[in-house]
Amino acid sequence: MIKKYWKDFLSLLYPELCYNCDVALVEGEDKICLRCYRDFPLTNYHESEPNPLVQIAAGNEKVKGAFCYMKFNKHGVAQKLLHEVKYKGNSTIGVLLGEWFGKYIKRELDALELDAIIPVPLHKSKKRKRGYNQSELIAKGIQNVTGLKVMEGVLIRTRNVSTQTKKGKVERWQNVDSLYQVVNKESIIGKKLLLVDDVITTGATISMAAEVLGNGGVSDIYFGCIASGK
Ligand SMILES: [Zn+2]
Repeated sequence: MIKKYWKDFLSLLYPELCYNCDVALVEGEDKICLRCYRDFPLTNYHESEPNPLVQIAAGNEKVKGAFCYMKFNKHGVAQKLLHEVKYKGNSTIGVLLGEWFGKYIKRELDALELDAIIPVPLHKSKKRKRGYNQSELIAKGIQNVTGLKVMEGVLIRTRNVSTQTKKGKVERWQNVDSLYQVVNKESIIGKKLLLVDDVITTGATISMAAEVLGNGGVSDIYFGCIASGK
């Protein structure tokens, strides 16, 4: 009881604020106030025909569908939250985003009867620098809600180069096999996987990863991302 009073007292002095609108959070709210949570710019891409994220992987028949949590707007809530995760060391928000996303698409994921989640890997030097891979945190959050297992270390990033900038599209595609690699091929053969990334912008990165997984014998690939500008 005293502990509870003490906690209430402290939260009066130092209230935790909503990461989006800075209003003081109340009990039951976590990182985001209920009002902002309700106003998340959800995409509903998985109910759209055609699905803009499936289209970025046109030509790869293994890509059967795609889920995206929020629209990526400049200075919008998705950008703010992902910035916390990627540049401010806030790993808690990474897992939380995955849990919210998992709740959003749980019914669809259950119906697909997927085998596992694979996070899009970072190169090991980049992961070491950041302390974690944000896509792994998101995958962990989805796992918390759906019970799907996360396969880590099966797909690895072999080189640390930018895929998004400076290079032409043709050159990007020529690099497919050298950017990602499947380490343990037997573990993915015939599997239905959710390939998870934090943001899909051009789609080059996740398409490359999907290409390598497809060549490795995966049967069905679904994209999952927290935000996309598509
Ligand atoms: Zn808010």
